[in-house]
Amino acid sequence: MSARILIVDDTPSSIKMLAAKLSNEYYEVLTAGDGPAALEAVERDAPDIVLLDVMMPGMDGFEVCRRIKGSPQNTHIPVVMVTALGNNEDRVKGLEAGADDFLTKPVDDTTLFARIRSLVRLKHMLEQWRLRGATSEKLGFVTEAIDVLDSGTGADIVLVDDSTIQREQIIQFLGADNDRVTVIDDYEASGKVVDLGGDVVVISLSTDSDAPLRMASRLRSLDPTRQVPILLIGDPEDQDLFIKALELGINDYIMRPLDELELLARVRTQVRRKRYQDRLHEDFFQHLSMALTDSLTGLHNRRYLSTHLDSVMERMRESEKPVSLLMIDVDHFKQINDTYGHSVGDEVLNEIGQRILRNIRGFDLAARYGGEEFTVVMPDTPIEVALGVADRLCEKMANEPISVSGSKDKIVVTLSIGVSVSQGFDETAENLLKQADDFMYQAKKEGRNQVIPTPPKSAKGAVEALPG
Ligand code: GH3
Ligand code: MG
Ligand code: MG
Repeated sequence: MSARILIVDDTPSSIKMLAAKLSNEYYEVLTAGDGPAALEAVERDAPDIVLLDVMMPGMDGFEVCRRIKGSPQNTHIPVVMVTALGNNEDRVKGLEAGADDFLTKPVDDTTLFARIRSLVRLKHMLEQWRLRGATSEKLGFVTEAIDVLDSGTGADIVLVDDSTIQREQIIQFLGADNDRVTVIDDYEASGKVVDLGGDVVVISLSTDSDAPLRMASRLRSLDPTRQVPILLIGDPEDQDLFIKALELGINDYIMRPLDELELLARVRTQVRRKRYQDRLHEDFFQHLSMALTDSLTGLHNRRYLSTHLDSVMERMRESEKPVSLLMIDVDHFKQINDTYGHSVGDEVLNEIGQRILRNIRGFDLAARYGGEEFTVVMPDTPIEVALGVADRLCEKMANEPISVSGSKDKIVVTLSIGVSVSQGFDETAENLLKQADDFMYQAKKEGRNQVIPTPPKSAKGAVEALPG
């Protein structure tokens, strides 16, 4: 996967060396010699990842990192801090500034490339979700800004570790962030991890066994945990394993002896990322459902109905079963608006929608087709049953006036309903809708408050088939 990498360093020779390595691997390389230039490049060139020197005159790397991560537009761009010092304090400070990782100079190639590949994968994934968010915005959905300054604390952590002593230390460390830790001591128990569904999974490598890594890779392949961040804990000798783990999609690792602040910082980074991603997902699914739902009645909208009707008809065609459809129009609805006002009109429409819902079966689909028109799709339903349902709806509506807020009046509402049923193999959704619509208009012409075709007396028992 190719990527655009921004190298930020005040020492030209450092830039040159890193740039050569990365170009060799076919990465596109951009460079900046100081903090302000780096921030400009981030805005202008939208890099996929930033390799950031810590020690720079003027604005140092921590500050640059804080600014990138504090910007809603750029917060998802991975930042890797690079420093000459293997100094732990710097490491923690960098992570707290929001850095996704830390590398020490001289940079080890294998680690560098493994890190980059892993972070670029993550960036591209987040990018896809952000794109969907952008599409939602174009469609007119407004989202609350995502909190990019989330503390990353108070999270649910699943800790997989078979050593009691080590476990206790980790739990104690994470306690400082008010994280809730659930322990699993069996590396074969992936199912339990899935069931727990935490924010981050921390897996300790145990000596002489590849079970921890196998578990990590299994969690990556299972749907519910595919996107859950995984953090490994191991020894410096496990370097090769860590590299392999990154290739498997594990997000981060930390080496023993465990430093409390570093553990907290790395867990927070993963928690923040998980929450950010969850928000993008939630927004998307919420917009999806809003795009397919009528906001007044909560019923499906016409857009959803069209697609759904096509698939229902296809399925019913395969099994040679009839699909029936009701086209329902409220009689003289304009008068209700004119008499009581538009908002009472809304209330009435909503109540009509709820009554329709209450009087159909769970696998029937009710949609608001337009202003005061509703549609019901009834799969695997012969016309006599559909006529019975329509007749009952008509009757109930006429016999139970609707109470509305701000008025003692009870409003009598009647419906005109046209009913159609799929005929033969090449029936189309369009035809089914048109047929029901034509019948509905006929019902209007013939005096409203009725169903066309006229239900036979036996329709309520829904047994006899109608002729024609
Ligand atoms: P008919 O018996 O011939 O169907 O008469 P009608 O008054 O129901 O039909 P018409 O098509 O003349 O008027 C429909 C009215 O429904 C007009 C429109 O203002 C109103 N309407 C459409 N959508 C809404 C809505 O969301 N809320 C409210 N309150 N009124 C709506
Ligand atoms: Mg009407
Ligand atoms: Mg109408």
